[in-house]
Amino acid sequence: MAGKTIPDFPVLPAPPQRELRFTCQPGCINCCNVQGYVYLTEDNLRDAARYLRLSPAEFEQRYVYRTRHLLRLRKPRHSQCHFLRDNGCSIHPAKPTQCRLFPFWPELVKSSRAWNAAARQCPGIGQGPLVQIGEAMELASEMERAYPTIYP
Ligand code: SF4
Ligand code: SF4
Repeated sequence: MAGKTIPDFPVLPAPPQRELRFTCQPGCINCCNVQGYVYLTEDNLRDAARYLRLSPAEFEQRYVYRTRHLLRLRKPRHSQCHFLRDNGCSIHPAKPTQCRLFPFWPELVKSSRAWNAAARQCPGIGQGPLVQIGEAMELASEMERAYPTIYP
């Protein structure tokens, strides 16, 4: 009796598994000291103003640089951010979206190389429990929605 022939299915290689771990480290302020800009949404502007008991117009006049497509915090002369203190962010509960979501930025979540490079400045990367890739991608999407002119 002839045996049954089991068809050969091509075996595709498994996609590379990425392990994302992150826990922000107490006392660290490295990401606030990196050269760059802190971009704001209109909601971020209103929330930070309310936190500081300023009107949005007062907050904007003191702290914000507005272009046609973007809002960003002005930089003080000798530091990266007006709100950075030795013990951390002085507007922590109302900090801008990009600060709250770091390091789950699209360019870092989507690239192992960029994620590993960011780990050189962020001691929280690689620490703590595993973050599901789906959860990381959702946080990255929140960045894209918040800053559509940066992530078109
Ligand atoms: S660099 Fe990383 S560990 Fe340090 S404050 Fe920023 S997110 Fe937290
Ligand atoms: S707003 Fe706060 S968290 Fe964001 S860069 Fe400034 S000090 Fe850091």
